[in-house]
Amino acid sequence: MDEIKRRHYLAVMGIPLWLSKTISAQSIDVRPPVDVRPPVQPKPSIPIQKEQNVTANTIIPKDNTSNHTTAQAMPPIANMDWETLATQVTKCQACHELVTNRSQTVFGTGNRNADLLIIGEAPGAEEDKQGEPFVGRAGQLLTSMLQAINLQREQVYIANILKCRPPNNRDPSTNEAQRCEPWLLRQIELINPKLILAVGRIAAHNLLKTNIAVGKLRCKVHQYGLQNIPVIVTYHPSYLLRSPGQKPHAWKDLQMVLKLLNQDMVILEDWK
Ligand code: SF4
Repeated sequence: MDEIKRRHYLAVMGIPLWLSKTISAQSIDVRPPVDVRPPVQPKPSIPIQKEQNVTANTIIPKDNTSNHTTAQAMPPIANMDWETLATQVTKCQACHELVTNRSQTVFGTGNRNADLLIIGEAPGAEEDKQGEPFVGRAGQLLTSMLQAINLQREQVYIANILKCRPPNNRDPSTNEAQRCEPWLLRQIELINPKLILAVGRIAAHNLLKTNIAVGKLRCKVHQYGLQNIPVIVTYHPSYLLRSPGQKPHAWKDLQMVLKLLNQDMVILEDWK
């Protein structure tokens, strides 16, 4: 990336230029290609917070508030391949209210062999319209955040907790998140990323099965699922647009993402 573009992305992140020196050009250049997937080795220097193990060996539960039966008839998804998964999710009728209001399901996008999986909340109006996650203003900021650490959107995989837009952009309900979880679990299993970045409260709470505030979930490396995939939590780009003063914190989280992808030593004290 040329220096002018890099300065632009850093400016979007609200990072003074002198801060950009905290990531050396060398640390970016040595990042392995995204299709090189060495096994993730536990790093004894990184304190790990144990989380609940979950698998995708689940049938989508039926929404008991509706008369839809399609979800109940759907086969277990744990063994679906990518194409079957992407096709079947478009037919999912498990959440009556969401099915009634959605234009389409929003499955996910990006590199299916990515080292980094980014998980957000749910589609908004623009995502529902375009069928792709993170395409509105928040999506543009997420793209700039990635570019600030020399990652292109196409190199990572981006998905949401929910595949369908909640009406009026309300928070996903607990039941909706539980119904939609098997789709995401199967995506995670198929991608088998080195690292998950949970953006925002809804993603963090549903992945880590906790109600702890995002600000307190930051600055730790959590663990997800049977594969013990490391998880970092950061602020949602929508929140950063409303609270630009938090951008320097998100920038620190991104630096830690880069370090973990490079399997560099992470010093938690540097993360605060
Ligand atoms: S949100 Fe998920 S579980 Fe609910 S209808 Fe959409 S795809 Fe199905």
